Amino acid sequence: MTEDELSSAYRRTVKETLLLMLSGILAVSVTLLAYRRLLDSNWTLAPVDTGFVAIMLLLFLFVYVGRKTRAASILIALGFIGASLISVLLLGESEIFWAFPALMVAYFMLDARQATILTGGFAGCFLAIVWDDLSAIEIIKIWLALVVTVLLANAFSLTNRRQMEELRRTVHLDPLTGAGNRRAQDLKLESTVAIFRRHHSPASLLMIDIDHFKRINDTRGHMVGDQVLIAITELIGGNTRATESLYRCGGEEFVLVAEQTELKAAVGLAEKVRRLVEQETFLAGIQVTVSIGVAQLQSEEDREAWLSRADAALYRAKGQGRNRVIVAGAPKVSRLPTVQRSDEPEAMPVLVSHSM
Ligand code: GH3
Ligand code: MG
Ligand code: MG
Repeated sequence: MTEDELSSAYRRTVKETLLLMLSGILAVSVTLLAYRRLLDSNWTLAPVDTGFVAIMLLLFLFVYVGRKTRAASILIALGFIGASLISVLLLGESEIFWAFPALMVAYFMLDARQATILTGGFAGCFLAIVWDDLSAIEIIKIWLALVVTVLLANAFSLTNRRQMEELRRTVHLDPLTGAGNRRAQDLKLESTVAIFRRHHSPASLLMIDIDHFKRINDTRGHMVGDQVLIAITELIGGNTRATESLYRCGGEEFVLVAEQTELKAAVGLAEKVRRLVEQETFLAGIQVTVSIGVAQLQSEEDREAWLSRADAALYRAKGQGRNRVIVAGAPKVSRLPTVQRSDEPEAMPVLVSHSM
């Protein structure tokens, strides 16, 4: 772990910090209140306050040491709602003002649905307590204030959730082409390796590199180069299945992960991709080709080893003239009709599918 990773792992989340602040502030202030009640010999409220302080201190320690917020969040949300109800019950309806911070706590600590259910329960209990003591107008006013608060809290929560979803989505996308980015690619490869180890379901990857792409930039300009990258992504992405995912792993390099796909099928897929690109005419009459390295995930292989085998195959595709598919890995590929054996000593069996 780097120093940055260590410090970010140690940094407390907003929820943790808020839980610590709430439980800390409440423990201190209610201690003063409990002391006052003891001096006043108030034997009804003094034990309630003391119990509350004990719970807050336990909660503080639980979050501070254990750094677990799930149970603490539920507890503090329930605690706040419960405490405001008890206040109304013991001290009268004027204590309703506690309900508003309690609702905010509930909406921050729980998801919007749980918080709304809790608020509904609170409103029901509150009405039952004050029904005989308040006029219809007063009940309507309190009810309205609660409804507006709940509506706003739901709106904030929904906005927050949508922004988070959008953020999560964009964090995994390449901004130019809309393909998955390197981060998403690494996650997919990690999960594919893990699934392979558990269930032995085959998986293959295609390392795709556009041939002589620099020439397009040099002769037609960077903007046209960008458009070609976008169009190639659409072309390949539009011709893949649900089990195949496309990532842009570098400038003009892409990785296509094919789950539940053995080498032979992956070679067929690579050949399809190569032909699709070759036959396409991109904007302003541009034609390009791609070279592809194909590797099926092998036992005991990790993400890096898998990628580097595909990369080595791609490198050989470039060396052998480009616009071709070269296979790295499993010997079973030698059964394919167009297989050649490379004369490089460390080379895997290769398939030359097409020459320029
Ligand atoms: P090869 O067939 O050996 O792969 O040749 P190449 O020209 O494709 O490869 P090289 O690595 O020499 O050059 C890659 C080029 O891709 C250089 C760089 O300007 C271009 N490139 C990388 N990222 C982008 C991008 O986002 N937009 C554009 N327009 N060009 C890019
Ligand atoms: Mg290239
Ligand atoms: Mg390249």
